[in-house]
Amino acid sequence: MGVRSPGQNRPGGERKSGEELDKVVARARQTLDERMKGYREQSLRTHPWVCARCGREFTVKNLHLLTVHHKDHNHENNPSDGSNWENLCLYCHDNEHRRFLDYEEGAGAGESGERRKPATHKPFAKLADLLKPEKREPHESS
Ligand SMILES: [Zn+2]
Ligand SMILES: [Zn+2]
Repeated sequence: MGVRSPGQNRPGGERKSGEELDKVVARARQTLDERMKGYREQSLRTHPWVCARCGREFTVKNLHLLTVHHKDHNHENNPSDGSNWENLCLYCHDNEHRRFLDYEEGAGAGESGERRKPATHKPFAKLADLLKPEKREPHESS
C-alpha cells in the first residue's frame, strides 16, 4: 500500500482499465437488455398493446412508450403465460412504482401511506434522546 503503479497517472493506463470496465458494463447491459427484450416481446405478444391503467392504445410507431411491468415487482418472476406482466405506458408505469414505494414504506398497512407518515417523527425523537442523554421522559421508564 502507498505505492501507486506508475501507469496510474498516465492516460494510457487509465484508458486500458476504462476499456475493460466498459466491456464489463457493456456485457452486463447486454445480458440485461436481452432478458428485458425477452419478456417485453413476450408480453407484447401475449397482451394487447394497450396500457392496462389508462387504456391508451399503442401502435408500432409509439410502441417504445409501452413498457412491461411486473405485477409482483419481481423482475425475476417471468412465467411464460405472462401472468406476472402488465403492459403499462411510461407514465402509468412510473406511477405504479411510486405507489409501490409508498406502500413499502407504510409497512404494508393498506393504502393509507399518507397516514403512516407521522411514523417518520420517531427518528427525531431518538435523535433528541441522543443529544440529551441525561434527560429521559418520566413516563417512559418503568
Ligand atoms: Zn397509461
Ligand atoms: Zn414495473
